[in-house]
Amino acid sequence: MKVFKFGGASVKDAAGVKRVASVLEFFTEDDILVVISAMGKSTNALEKIVALHLAGDKPACEKALVALEKYHLDIMADLDFARDHSVYEEVAQLFAQLRMKLSAILNGGFNKVYDQIVSFGELLSTKIVSAYLNQNSYQNIWLDARRLIKTDQSYRFARIDWTYTKRMLQDSVREGARYLTQGFIGSDDMGNTTTLGREGSDYSASVIAYCLAASEVVIWKDVPGVLNGDPKVFEDTVLLNKINYREAIELAFYGASVIHPKTIQPLQEKGIPLKVKSFENPTAEGTTISEGVSLDPMASCFIKKENQLLIKLSTRDLAFIAEDHLSKIYQLFHQFGARVNLSQHSAVSSSFCINFDPINAFPLCEELAKSFDLEQREDISLYTIRHHNASAREQIKKRGKVLLEQITVGTYQVALFE
Ligand code: ASP
Ligand code: MG
Repeated sequence: MKVFKFGGASVKDAAGVKRVASVLEFFTEDDILVVISAMGKSTNALEKIVALHLAGDKPACEKALVALEKYHLDIMADLDFARDHSVYEEVAQLFAQLRMKLSAILNGGFNKVYDQIVSFGELLSTKIVSAYLNQNSYQNIWLDARRLIKTDQSYRFARIDWTYTKRMLQDSVREGARYLTQGFIGSDDMGNTTTLGREGSDYSASVIAYCLAASEVVIWKDVPGVLNGDPKVFEDTVLLNKINYREAIELAFYGASVIHPKTIQPLQEKGIPLKVKSFENPTAEGTTISEGVSLDPMASCFIKKENQLLIKLSTRDLAFIAEDHLSKIYQLFHQFGARVNLSQHSAVSSSFCINFDPINAFPLCEELAKSFDLEQREDISLYTIRHHNASAREQIKKRGKVLLEQITVGTYQVALFE
């Protein structure tokens, strides 16, 4: 069994859905389970619907629902379904259920309500894509991921119940058949829908592959594979043919938006290769993440994180920054959910580069300023180079004013004001 994953961008319109079908045509001999995300920006639209609903703004909520429905119906119209095709009824039913759920008094707090509603994006997309593929002679069985992916009750960030999930998947999936299911969603043992965190469909694919001991996972994208930098940010990028699991986790840790580290871990445990391929060129090799050399070709990898907050803390009495200061500082970072991307310490001061969170950043700084002299700077870019060399470092430093810099054997990081 192979597990294929197509993200929201690859099914954002009818042309995208047709392209999925044409990719799958290359693999009609294989047992494949296809994982699909919500179409285009549907998850964002559903998040907005939840917010409007909870704010009690019924007209705006209804307007957003109508727009979401129209978006899906327009795609269906371009997919040339027969007028009486059952998919129309299925989609209508999903929208009826969605409205019903919204009008019921939903208990259990924001996160639980969120999961019950936002999960409809994936249900809609998979119903439509599955029907289209069946109509175009790619026979497939639609599976409800809520029955298969069993989780705890941490709504919005649900954790997998591996034993239960493995049993459900193994009981539901047999050899010699092709399947299609939703990414991102699952359910708790009460049957309430849960979600695995935004952009969680890659992780779904990896969980499924792990439980079924799949031979490989392929993530289909609109790029030729994993490049050594985002081509929108860096010039002269090259395709990485091979990356090992460890290097992939490192790249993801520093903010490469390639693949979430959570996705890699289950695959690494079972030695299942993860391929990133282009749906524009399905027979090209793309990138393979597996055991083996860290990178092939060996190239410097560039990662940019924007919207960073740089904080410099100094002791008021010029006392050394010691463990007790640091533990206090980190406790506050933890409390305010700040992720530290770079830190550097001198005798009497410490600097930290953190993701700027518009809600928490200022209360955090206020709290820190009670104990330390604080300097802060917003709108900083943090660049990371894995496998750096002098010319790669110089090339990045030219982009702005260097505020903080750190070199280790494998990694170079610099905070710049551009
Ligand atoms: N549709 C979900 C999201 O946009 C999951 C995914 O795309 O992976 O976050
Ligand atoms: Mg998505």
